[in-house]
Parts: sequence; C-alpha cells; structure tokens
Amino acid sequence: MKISNILKSREITVSCELFPPKEGAVLGNVQKVVKEIARLNPSFMSITYGAGGAGSHNTTQIAHEIQNINGITALAHLTCIGSKKDDIIRTLKELKDKNIENILALRGDLPQNKPLLHGDYKYASELTEEIHKNGDFCVGGACYPEGHPESANLQKDIEYLKVKVESGCSFLTTQMFFDNNILYNFMFRLLKNGVDVPVIAGIMPITNAKQVERIFKLSGTALPPRFKAIVDRFADNPDAMKQAGIAYATEQIIDLIANGINHMHIYTMNKPDIAKNIMGNLSEIFK
Ligand code: FAD
Repeated sequence: MKISNILKSREITVSCELFPPKEGAVLGNVQKVVKEIARLNPSFMSITYGAGGAGSHNTTQIAHEIQNINGITALAHLTCIGSKKDDIIRTLKELKDKNIENILALRGDLPQNKPLLHGDYKYASELTEEIHKNGDFCVGGACYPEGHPESANLQKDIEYLKVKVESGCSFLTTQMFFDNNILYNFMFRLLKNGVDVPVIAGIMPITNAKQVERIFKLSGTALPPRFKAIVDRFADNPDAMKQAGIAYATEQIIDLIANGINHMHIYTMNKPDIAKNIMGNLSEIFK
C-alpha cells in the first residue's frame, strides 16, 4: 500500500526505522529484528540506505523481507550522494520487481574523512523527480524542524523544502527533536509557506548516554534542560538510562498526539525491545 494512502486512511500511525547490515555481512540478525518489529504491527517499516551506494543491495533485500515475508508495508530509503543515474535506475527496477512502492528520497549524509564521490543528483528534489520518471512510486522526503545544519536559516531551508515537495514528495519525515515546541513552531511555518503534505514526527528514544554526543553532533538538535538532566543523572546506570529514555520518548508522543500530530516514526535502531516498550506503553493510543 502507498504510504500516502496509509496516512490518509488511519487517524494515528506509528512506523519504525531499521538499518541494513553492511555490504557483505550476513542478513541473519537484521532478518530477526525485522520479524520481531513486524510482530508489533507498525503502520510501515523503513530501511535506511548507506550513502555512496554501500549496502544498497541490502536495503532492497531488507525491504523485501519487511513487505513480502513479514507482511508490513516497506519504505526503502535511497540517496543521491555518489549515485550515478544508472545505479539509481537499476535500484528502482529491483524495488519495482519486489513490489516496493514507497521510497524516501534523500541527499544522504556527507562522507566523513572520505572524499565526496560526485553523483548525478545534487539535492533530494532532483532524485525525487528521477524516481517519478521511473515508476508509480510514492515518494517521501526528510525535513528538519530546527533547520538543516547546512542551511543559512530555517526560512531558507523551508523554501527549499517547498521545492522538494513540489518535485513530488507526498509526505515528510522529520529529523529527531527533543522539544515538541520546536515541532509545533515548524508546523506553523510550513503552513505559512504553503507546505501542506502530511508530516511524520521522528522520535529517537535515547537509551544509552554514549549515543548522546554523537547524535547531537550529527543532527545539530537542541538538548532541552529536562532531557540533559536525565542524561546527567542516569548516564552511569545503563538500565535506568534505558528506562528513562523510553519514558521520555513515550511522553513526547503522548504530547504530540494530544496536540494533533498523529503520525509517529520511531528511530528504533534495530532494537526491537525499545519499539516493544514504547508501543506497549501506548497500546490504547495506537489501537
Ligand atoms: P536535501 O533536501 O537535498 O537538502 C540538503 C541541503 O541542501 C539543505 O540544507 C537544503 O536547505 C539545501 N537545498 C535543498 N535544495 C536546494 C536547492 N535547490 N538549492 C540550494 N540548496 C538546496 N542519510 C543517509 O545517508 N541514508 C539514509 O537512509 C538517511 N535517512 C534519513 C531519514 C530521515 C527521516 C532524515 C531526517 C535523514 C536521513 N538521512 C539519511 C540523513 C540525510 O541524508 C542528511 O540529513 C542530509 O544531510 C540531507 O538530506 P536531505 O534529503 O534532507 O537533503
């Protein structure tokens, strides 16, 4: 089913994100993770794509596992960086052959400590156009409630986001955020700028203090004092940190749904127990 139709037909949706094994690694562990998360019956499951083509075959293979073996709609990520037109067309054909009809079109993370391979697409909007030329896909894009770290300011980023939506994105998934007011402000600005496709809120359960520094460096996301206090207090107690992180993510979702944001995407990071805990906490709300 196309994700645009899932978002239209269900009042509240919850999706989960996984990452594929590295190229050449065995699929076994991730297949197990897919099965466990699929048992929770999310609205759809997404699978990331290593920028520069690394792991692209595994993305298609795991999307196939999600949808054709476990019966959950799959969303395959696809990135521009380092991708030549031929690679993209070949990947689109592989996805089509496996009946995968949903793609998240991304520019991709810039490689760290490696030269940038030049591909045929600079921005996600160019990739979105290419995907539509090659099949009847439902395409989504990424958005950044605090502005993309490379953009001059949030207003400029929203103007480019509008171009991306006009190139054919029918929904957007947000970067993680830890203060819901940031998302409410962003939603207001999107409407003011004429961006009115459904927005799925990206929720990252922080369950390990070591994640914190890396994540905040990568995403540029603000760390609210309430969240900082949790990390400071429980960093040395992994079980307590995990419990507190799950509780924080749960509360974030309750507040979002109470305020009319109905579509959630949980960055589950291949940890079924975290998805299980959050979805268990919200079983009556996600019914
Ligand atoms: P774009 O939409 O292309 O924007 C990139 C930058 O260019 C922004 O600053 C934007 O303002 C600017 N821009 C856009 N269009 C123009 C234009 N026409 N002219 C000038 N400037 C412009 N990375 C991966 O490698 N693999 C993944 O699977 C993956 N999944 C992700 C999933 C989600 C939900 C999110 C939020 C991010 C994901 N990322 C992934 C990371 C993402 O690739 C990076 O954040 C990347 O830096 C930006 O990608 P984008 O698609 O938003 O880029």
